[in-house]
Amino acid sequence: MPSSHDFLERCDKLAVMGGTFDPIHNGHIAVASAVLQEFKPRRVLFVPGGQPPHKPDIPVSDGEHRFNMTLSAICENPAFDASRMEIDRKGPSYTVDTIAALRKICPAGAKIFFIIGADALMEILSWHGAEKLLSLCEFIAVHRPGYELEKKYVKNLREKYGAVVHIFEGPLLEISGTQIREKFAAGQAVGGLVPRVVEDYARTHALYNMPAPNLSQSNFETVKQRICSVLSKGRFRHTLGTIIEAEKLAAHYGADVNKARWAALLHDCAKEFSTAKKRVLCAHWCIQLDPILASHIDITHSLLGAESACRDYGITDPEILQAIACHTTGGANMTLLDKVILLADFIEPYREDYPPLAEMRRHAYTDLNKALRIGMEFTINELLERGHAVHDRTRDALRELS
Ligand code: ATP
Ligand code: MG
Repeated sequence: MPSSHDFLERCDKLAVMGGTFDPIHNGHIAVASAVLQEFKPRRVLFVPGGQPPHKPDIPVSDGEHRFNMTLSAICENPAFDASRMEIDRKGPSYTVDTIAALRKICPAGAKIFFIIGADALMEILSWHGAEKLLSLCEFIAVHRPGYELEKKYVKNLREKYGAVVHIFEGPLLEISGTQIREKFAAGQAVGGLVPRVVEDYARTHALYNMPAPNLSQSNFETVKQRICSVLSKGRFRHTLGTIIEAEKLAAHYGADVNKARWAALLHDCAKEFSTAKKRVLCAHWCIQLDPILASHIDITHSLLGAESACRDYGITDPEILQAIACHTTGGANMTLLDKVILLADFIEPYREDYPPLAEMRRHAYTDLNKALRIGMEFTINELLERGHAVHDRTRDALRELS
């Protein structure tokens, strides 16, 4: 999956799935997957709407949240992509404007399908610019349990408006955003209806009348379970070790122990994202890639980790987020918490031995800066020996620690 919409410039066959996606659910994903198989577009582009013009009275979750959920649900599939086009556009979201904009980006003569559920198709003539829209793309009208696709209506679209409508049975899943929002609000399980990442996101951000999470011990245990399920065994063990060490260091030096615990828990939450996912998320989350970060994309796991801690785990505390963000390279003006996390990561009790580990541990509780200096000098030498460039932030950090 590419990191921007550059692919559209070369895309001669595109399927677009518009919707409120409040939230995106397994019905949407199953439909998109089935379309991919049957119609073989190069990509399915999910376009979460801004303020939906046809739902003016129904409160809709913030566009950023709906986009984040959409992206997290689809970003591992190279044939899927998500567009911010509608949520970034001011004013009501009209599909006709979106398809017209996509037409301008795609090569001339590109085939563009708009995937539309039976319920939405039956209302299409009431949409803004319907006639133009019907001429701009082909439609894949997907059956949806509980809604009838009236033959007469489709015939009218074809004959009176010249619309190209492909009737597609699709996976016939009885899932809707409305049903999922109701289940969330009633405290009921939504397993099987939405991808796990979407469920976690919605709970973390208390989107559908759920209590907001916080930095409490009970939420810590919940997030710990989630981290356990997303990290490999070895990485989770390292995380547990970092929590132990960070708590001890924070208590010893007078940093906030709870913040240290949270930063340690989440510091590697993005570490095991695939390279493709790291690149995509850097682009979508506006993380600037300087040449060093671009050539060693793994280093961005600290910056992605801070973003993910906020977006996916509901952490808003700036000190925690900064400590996560700077734990790979370090940086200028590091706070006590930043240093605690950096050092805990270096010396946590489960770390396998490496040359300066014992020396760092010896100084850890008497001279924090010295222990860090030893670790950073070692890291720099290792990088240079392997012919890698050293990030300026690491040099800045080392200068200040000396
Ligand atoms: P809500 O209940 O909030 O309206 P929704 O499930 O209808 O949510 P939307 O974001 O409104 O989801 O739908 C986007 C598009 O996906 C629409 O074209 C809709 O018809 C289609 N769609 C949604 N769910 C299904 C489903 N289960 N089967 C087929 N099409 C679906
Ligand atoms: Mg709907």
